[in-house]
Amino acid sequence: MTGTCLCGGVRFEVAEPFERVAQCHCTSCKKISGGIGTVSGKVRTDAIRILSGEELLRTYQPEEGTAKTFCGECGSNLFGGGWPASEYTSVRLSAIEPSYPDKPTAHIYVRSVAPWETLPDDGAERFEVRFGE
Ligand SMILES: [Zn+2]
Ligand SMILES: [Zn+2]
Repeated sequence: MTGTCLCGGVRFEVAEPFERVAQCHCTSCKKISGGIGTVSGKVRTDAIRILSGEELLRTYQPEEGTAKTFCGECGSNLFGGGWPASEYTSVRLSAIEPSYPDKPTAHIYVRSVAPWETLPDDGAERFEVRFGE
């Protein structure tokens, strides 16, 4: 799989299939996405290779939660979960091109669903907080 940011400056490749795909409704993901949250695939960090634009990448470490990485030129959110130091990374499906073909199998942080957001009745597992909680 390959991924890009909006301006095209950052290009990366994911060499392994995602272990799972989840939509996160937490308040941090809403802030960074500008919408209802992020949809991410979990993969081993080693499986991600930056093809171009590594110098554009910026990483933000919030007080709570894991570091988030985005393109410093266009602001596209690309990685979560603590990339590049963590064992696993959350790759934002919005970056994957062509579009990732499957739906998320889980909704996480559903306790943070906003009043202006509708949680879809799509059969995916729901977790109040993290996966498994
Ligand atoms: Zn960009
Ligand atoms: Zn989140």
